[in-house]
Amino acid sequence: MLIKEKSKSLFEKAKNLIPGGVNSPVRAFKAVGGDPLFIKAAKGAYLYDEDGNKFIELINSWGPMILGHARDEIEKAVSESLKLSPSFGAPTENEINVAELIVEMVPSIEKVRMVNSGTEATMSAIRLARGFTGRDKIIKFEGCYHGHGDSFLIAAGSGVATMGTPDSPGVTKGTAADTLTAPYNNLEAVDKLIQNNKREIAAIIIEPVAGNMGCVLPGKGYLEGLRKACDENDILLIFDEVMTGFRLAKGGAQEVFNVMPDLTTLGKIIGGGMPVGAYGGKKEIMDHISPIGPVYQAGTLSGNPIAMSAGFEMLSYLNQHNEVYTQLQEVATKIENGIKDNLHQLGMSYSINSIGSMMTLFFTEEKVTNFDSAKTTDTALFGKYFNAMLENGVYIAPSQFESLFLSTSIDEKLADQIIDANFKSLKSIL
Ligand SMILES: *Cc1c(COP(=O)(O)O)cnc(C)c1O
Repeated sequence: MLIKEKSKSLFEKAKNLIPGGVNSPVRAFKAVGGDPLFIKAAKGAYLYDEDGNKFIELINSWGPMILGHARDEIEKAVSESLKLSPSFGAPTENEINVAELIVEMVPSIEKVRMVNSGTEATMSAIRLARGFTGRDKIIKFEGCYHGHGDSFLIAAGSGVATMGTPDSPGVTKGTAADTLTAPYNNLEAVDKLIQNNKREIAAIIIEPVAGNMGCVLPGKGYLEGLRKACDENDILLIFDEVMTGFRLAKGGAQEVFNVMPDLTTLGKIIGGGMPVGAYGGKKEIMDHISPIGPVYQAGTLSGNPIAMSAGFEMLSYLNQHNEVYTQLQEVATKIENGIKDNLHQLGMSYSINSIGSMMTLFFTEEKVTNFDSAKTTDTALFGKYFNAMLENGVYIAPSQFESLFLSTSIDEKLADQIIDANFKSLKSIL
């Protein structure tokens, strides 16, 4: 049994001071039973909690730590930058360097604006889409999460799904009315919404590979179909690549599927672990942003020097090391095959979805292609599996509606340990 004394006492204290004891709901272990572990440090593929437990890390800060924890290059860049003062609120050269890298790496981006989180990126991107098109409505997809902006807390996946709050109080009816939702992987539903709201829809926003209802892939021709529907109806297509950007490929899902959005939102990996987001796209659209355009968007700490130095190191590394993506794919394939063998041996036929270094084992026998099929999963069983994995030394996201995120620190040997932990954990919940 894991020792959790220190985490327990810290959590008791935190609950008196911080709502629910956590600064982001997905960190609570509410959906899986038990209390969250308080983390002290991480290095490479390992996470260490306050009680001295050591885990193989498969959350990686929900994606950003794609090269593993506490990389020397990033630490060095950040400490150099820190010496020059953490913030000026004025332009710096490194912001150009980061923008240059993003434009080089992400195929559809010609200009980019830095912000401080993925939420800020998506909120800004839809404001820009509305300002650019002069229309109010947006289409989003059931189970897709785009941060906690009001417009997106309708049929949002991830933490909202885990907590069982379908729509959040505090979101006005007016805002909700401007957000139309359709099931993922269903082009007809989108066409119907477009027909019923002629010339009223500013943008369609989508996770081109969904990660926030668990990992769900776009079906064949689906992203192409959305692109076509947008072109025919003067609607902007926004790919929310906060999770998939720099993870599935240097150029994200748009590179993998070769479908180009008008706007792209980024976050997570882009900051190398620091709080960063960005949105970018075609010049003629991006030039509608203040100070050259009428759409206002600003940030005291946007393009922060420390965040930019971490992000620059991260993106430079990924840009120069294409083998990162083949390595991640090889290890992911090994783990996926290992889990499939385990399931087979134990007479279980649960569903696995995966692409690149993202993967979800769903506790359902149905093929998961949208939020409805994702919800057929046995979440109570997942809770048992999650806790068993912890006992077996592997830290995965405390929710069925999440993906696991591999880092390059997970080698073949650790993959074997993960497969072994998976076998023991599955066996224990039989
Ligand atoms: C994490 C995430 C966000 C929100 O980013 P934050 O930095 O948490 O605000 C938005 N979109 C997607 C697809 C995400 O995975």
